[in-house]
Amino acid sequence: MEKQINPKRYSVIREKNPREIVMLRGSGCKWKRCRFCDYHLDSSSDEQENYELNKKELMKITGVYGKLEIINSGSFCDLDEQTIRKIIEVCKEKEIAEVHFECHWIHRKEVEAFRRRFQKEGIVLKLKIGVETFDHYMRQDILCKGMAEDDPAVIASYFDEACFLFGLPGQTKESMQQDIETGLAHFERICLNIMVENSTDIKPDPGVIRVFEKELFPVYKDNPRVDILLDNTDFGVGGEQDDE
Ligand code: SF4
Repeated sequence: MEKQINPKRYSVIREKNPREIVMLRGSGCKWKRCRFCDYHLDSSSDEQENYELNKKELMKITGVYGKLEIINSGSFCDLDEQTIRKIIEVCKEKEIAEVHFECHWIHRKEVEAFRRRFQKEGIVLKLKIGVETFDHYMRQDILCKGMAEDDPAVIASYFDEACFLFGLPGQTKESMQQDIETGLAHFERICLNIMVENSTDIKPDPGVIRVFEKELFPVYKDNPRVDILLDNTDFGVGGEQDDE
């Protein structure tokens, strides 16, 4: 039987682009093949159950910063329609004018209509894509990211923000810095995720992580356009909880 997870799903990010964040549950990532990822297990095909769970989390939103980030271990289009309606309702009620969603490359053509839907409600969307690295071989052949497009300008024509995955065997100070600088040149904001050991066969490289922490973290830690997650629960969501 698949392991049921009970993560913390609501948090407030108080530094750098302050915003509330909720981790909702959808029908599941339609790609599911990224070799470093096991969090796509947070999904269910029962739309009503997902909605009930999502509604409970969305009710915690206060609108304190007027900005909200929604993650759902997949893409925005994996969320059910009732949940989307609830998000819009909560945003209007709490005067939230900016919402961030994540999305895989395979859904890029669905982004525009989704943006327009929210725009009509006075809400600006920021779409975040997991690029992981601009190194084609590593992204496609090692990580199996499913994004053959290499041109950052083309990727940025659909998406506003990009995530990168660092701390992997073969990465160097130069390769990571090049990804960061290319990301900053093309996207409004970037998020650097340091690989954390999970159930997949992609393992973090402690030597590469040390290089990142020593050489790059001090350079970018105060950059307001760069989020850095040394641990994947640093945004306050995703870690297991036993209450509820
Ligand atoms: S697209 Fe995201 S959720 Fe889907 S497998 Fe890749 S990293 Fe995991």
